Amino acid sequence: MKRILLEIILAASLAAASVFAWTNWNAGQANVLKLTELTAESESSGKKLEAAEAEVTATAEELSTLKVKSQELDAVKAALASGETLKDLEAAYKKEKSLSAERQVGLGALRLLTKGSKDPATIEAFRKALDIADWGSRKKVICAAQIALAAAGEKVNVLDDCATSAEKAEQAEKDKIAGPEKAAAEVKSKDDHAAKPGEKHAVHWGYEGAMGPDRWGDEFPTCAKGKSQSPLNIKGPFEKAQFGIAPDYKPGQLKIINNGHTIQVNVPSGSKLRIDSKPFELVQFHFHRPSEELIDGKPAAMVVHFVHKNEAGRLAVLGVLLKEGNENPGIKTLWANAPLKEGPMVEPEGVLFNPANLLPREYEFYSYEGSLTTPPCTEGVRFFILKAHVNIAKEQVEQFPFKKNARPVQPQNGRAIAG
Ligand SMILES: [Zn+2]
Repeated sequence: MKRILLEIILAASLAAASVFAWTNWNAGQANVLKLTELTAESESSGKKLEAAEAEVTATAEELSTLKVKSQELDAVKAALASGETLKDLEAAYKKEKSLSAERQVGLGALRLLTKGSKDPATIEAFRKALDIADWGSRKKVICAAQIALAAAGEKVNVLDDCATSAEKAEQAEKDKIAGPEKAAAEVKSKDDHAAKPGEKHAVHWGYEGAMGPDRWGDEFPTCAKGKSQSPLNIKGPFEKAQFGIAPDYKPGQLKIINNGHTIQVNVPSGSKLRIDSKPFELVQFHFHRPSEELIDGKPAAMVVHFVHKNEAGRLAVLGVLLKEGNENPGIKTLWANAPLKEGPMVEPEGVLFNPANLLPREYEFYSYEGSLTTPPCTEGVRFFILKAHVNIAKEQVEQFPFKKNARPVQPQNGRAIAG
């Protein structure tokens, strides 16, 4: 039970750290009362740790909503002043080889509240969190870490998206309006699964050896424990697809990055994929060599993954297989501008690109429920693999700066594949 209490306090301090940086603290006991209630609930319930952790996540979310209304930082601080909680928590965590980004932020937040911003271990905890967090699925963690680091006087450029969502949350609370326009505004092109925040890139995973796919689970548990992982070997029997998809991609300024794992193009807003008539905004596309998905056990030379997100934050990936054949003019433009080495995003002046140039004419597809194919391997991603392929010249495959950046196929675990 002690562990659960610590987790709850941790969640509270995580929320507190975020608020600490961007909001004035109002008088009020709301969060303290809430914390007391939740603590009592957890004690009496006697649930297993797993269930409790799910509750803690919900608690953290609830608290982060509450924070906009009213919180009392001093009360939280006073409760933590002795440092006992921090000691307990660190002892509990010491046994674990590696902590998740959320826990690192929580730990940093607790240190910040207990020992202040001059404590080097505070900064270290936030830095670690930033290193292991993945932009997109861990936006809250990244924002909390960045804002707290900035508040501690560290030179950190807080991403626009963090400030924006904080302001929006405040505004929505004031207006009591959280319309679809606001939600749409939160869908930013930076939000993707392969890009990392910050200038320097900490390599925590790769495609070979000690950092290869079979070790991803050490730091990103879903990669090993998830039951709906991607990619899959696509093979029958197939279920009948119940609806169609319709890409509606538009030309826009080319923004291309070598992020150390792939070549990725970040797409300006306006390009969409309609799935069963519902719009998903195209945020980025990137490449794997060879193709991650197998068709009847066989890979294609490469695959391009178009990553989309709807207003609810649901992800959908459209995969287009690239087979060796004629030169691909779209790829030619991309490769001519793609940095060979890992580095910042480039925006070559006057170069427009239309992602539709990489699509075949027919949109018949295989589909299944999967995950991100890179850490943290988050599930709940809908996959659509087009049956038609597009060509790529052998030389163009060889020009791609990554020899192998494909995750092996994952167990199907009874998932249906439509096709
Ligand atoms: Zn991919």
